[in-house]
Amino acid sequence: MRRFSSRGHDFLPTEYTNIKPFLPSLPPPPIGPDGSPLGPEALSVLFPSGMIQHEITLEPRVPIPEDVLEAYKVYRPSPLIRAFELERALETPAHIYYKYEGTNPAGSHKSNTALPQAYFAARDGISRITTETGAGQWGSALSQACGRFGIDLDVFMVRASYLQKPLRKTFINMHGGSVCASPSDRTRSGRSFLESDPEHPGSLGIAISEAVEVVLSEEDSCYSLGSVSDAVCLHQSIIGQESILQMEEMGEYPTEIIACVGGGSNFAGIAFPFLEKMLTGGEKIKFTAVEPTVCPTLTKGKLMYDFGDASGLTPRYMMYTLGAGFVPPPIHAGGLRYHGMAPLVSHLVKLGLINPVAYNQQKTLKAGREFTRLEGILPAPESNHAVAAAMDSAIEARESGEKKVILFNLSGHGFLDLAAYENR
Ligand SMILES: *Cc1c(COP(=O)(O)O)cnc(C)c1O
Repeated sequence: MRRFSSRGHDFLPTEYTNIKPFLPSLPPPPIGPDGSPLGPEALSVLFPSGMIQHEITLEPRVPIPEDVLEAYKVYRPSPLIRAFELERALETPAHIYYKYEGTNPAGSHKSNTALPQAYFAARDGISRITTETGAGQWGSALSQACGRFGIDLDVFMVRASYLQKPLRKTFINMHGGSVCASPSDRTRSGRSFLESDPEHPGSLGIAISEAVEVVLSEEDSCYSLGSVSDAVCLHQSIIGQESILQMEEMGEYPTEIIACVGGGSNFAGIAFPFLEKMLTGGEKIKFTAVEPTVCPTLTKGKLMYDFGDASGLTPRYMMYTLGAGFVPPPIHAGGLRYHGMAPLVSHLVKLGLINPVAYNQQKTLKAGREFTRLEGILPAPESNHAVAAAMDSAIEARESGEKKVILFNLSGHGFLDLAAYENR
């Protein structure tokens, strides 16, 4: 039996697929300070023109720029692997597949959007990108992409992670990016949080405020977001598109698709191309989004207009949110500590097309250890949320006898997170 699907470049899509034209309704648009919908002009102070176009397009297919495609060819298509050992150990009749996004130079799915974002900045003649990073994966991916397209990078890293994961800083520096801990004394927003607590652990919302503040005060630089936005979800669609072809090669079709959710982008990436099929007459699939119990945006948050950052500098988005001021405890899955959720993912949860669940850290790390022993691949702490939910679903199949084909997204590797596995 086949162990994994082949990785030829004929499996690499040349267009992104856009879920928007296939949805029964669109999410409400982002709004400005006066509550009216924001046009593309309002975004142009922050983003390169190519990103704005990707943010608003309603075209079902969007060409991948040639230079980005060349960069993808270094690591794509990513492998789709059948988890035989895991199936055996769980004694489940379910078939379990995982799409492994940890094989690229930065080690997570974030490179899929970092590369087009750096490309679009370079195309507009922008010389520097300023951004935030939670656990450091976004900063890592963007530093490598900026290196490739000749752009400077300035990263605000959530302090809790900055202290927990110093090697991420080393990685970003090696690619020429600079990193500082957030909240920092470089911005007004940062200083206001430091005043209330000099040891403030930070949050993604605060780091976004700092990055946006810097971009608004500088000529010749732009802002870049690693998740949440419609454009990022569009870029990640290559994960699902490849998976469709690879599952076909394996002779199967998923009955359930599972991914972890922080801002929602790796979930959108693997799920949306399959959702498009389902909405246009294809087989029914159960879509499961897994978040941490300590940052329960979809399972306990409210669907409402909220800021993307902690200081109210960004537009307001219609999304599930725990409140822009929410500071989650410093868990190892730093990439899942965000108060909000992609408007597209939020909208689909509201429509009942996505099933959200929450898992705690102990359970997800235990699943990650077991997966590593059985399959030989070390998942990032974030990805362990998907691993744990896939294992539960396979165990349920053992009891119900249901013929499940589970596909989950293994969003990144955990080599720089080994300490998380050590501290039980
Ligand atoms: C950033 C990150 C996540 C969470 O972000 P999403 O936008 O929800 O995908 C998940 N896994 C890994 C490995 C990450 O780096």
